[in-house]
Amino acid sequence: MDRQRIIKQTKRLVLKIGSSVLTVDGGVRPGIVRDIARQVALLKKKGIEVVLVSSGAIACGMGILKLKKRPREIPQKQAVAAIGQPVLVRHYSQAFQKAGLHVAQILLTRDDLKDRHRFLTAKHAFQELFRAGVVPVVNENDSVAVEEIQVGDNDQLSALVSHLVDADLLLILTDIDGFYDKDPRRSKGACRIGLVENVDEDAFKLAEGTQNEKSTGGMTTKLKAAYQAAFYGVPTWVVGGNDPKIISKVMAGEDVGTLFLPRSETLSSRKYWIGYTLKATGQIVVDEGAVMALRDKKKSLLPSGIVGVKGDFDIGDAVEILTPDQKLIARGLTAYSSREIEKIKGRKSTEIEKILGYKYYDEVVNRDDLVIL
Ligand code: GLU
Repeated sequence: MDRQRIIKQTKRLVLKIGSSVLTVDGGVRPGIVRDIARQVALLKKKGIEVVLVSSGAIACGMGILKLKKRPREIPQKQAVAAIGQPVLVRHYSQAFQKAGLHVAQILLTRDDLKDRHRFLTAKHAFQELFRAGVVPVVNENDSVAVEEIQVGDNDQLSALVSHLVDADLLLILTDIDGFYDKDPRRSKGACRIGLVENVDEDAFKLAEGTQNEKSTGGMTTKLKAAYQAAFYGVPTWVVGGNDPKIISKVMAGEDVGTLFLPRSETLSSRKYWIGYTLKATGQIVVDEGAVMALRDKKKSLLPSGIVGVKGDFDIGDAVEILTPDQKLIARGLTAYSSREIEKIKGRKSTEIEKILGYKYYDEVVNRDDLVIL
């Protein structure tokens, strides 16, 4: 039922393809790109716009350099991705051309999505590509993405892109045919979970990182992507990409893979941006009372509830808010710098002016600038 309804509403689709589906021994698997191109062409005929988010730059680069292990150091990754990305896109452009379509390459970093102005600029580029009937092929710009501006894995990138292009569905092709209650590679009695209504803590407990030399994420990063997409009102469907007809099966609403439903109550695009797009530059540790005030009473963060500060950040920066036992509970934009918070932590708001010699606000993080995770 949910499947049929979602498919009916899908006019724009983000299709994420991981390295584990796309590549084998450092090269692109023969036939796979052709299958994808053929299936995307069918979608386009039905009037559905498609954005591909494809990994594989590093895997292709590894193939060219004959590396057996995925590089760990960032400069190495940058170089290997720079070598592999044109190879990857050449595969797409040749296969799509045969299916009567053109592709366009878009490489993004977190910085392109975190600044509102750049976010809109990127959005306009996609809009023009849709108008031209071209299929954007997106990857992280690994060659310039140092840690501070990295999204990190393409599952999360695909969730951010779904938000950027206002997609109706995020379809993730991976090497497992869905989300299981146990690791299907290790236990025989594992059952596929067809539908997840709430991407919650229980779902995360079930997921295990399936680390593979070629890919960055496992089920955990897919769940994180589904969680983010859900907040923006986008359903996520995780399916096995090794079935050459899988996209058609999804579009027919068949019971394949795992469908994660979106939240009924979605975050505004600004809150989404605070919670999921911005990279935090520091952390604020709060006491139990503040945890309750933030989480249960939906209050702002006051200096009195703060017990510690980590990192060096300025006013307006994104920060993570941690419980006394270092669990992440919220993200927000801070109204005071880390130096200032060091001085006012644990104190009443009425004392701020006396301590600092000035006061901007009573709250360190205002409720409007805060997202509970
Ligand atoms: N951007 C990386 C690549 O193209 C992949 C990241 C990921 O696998 O999630 O190789």
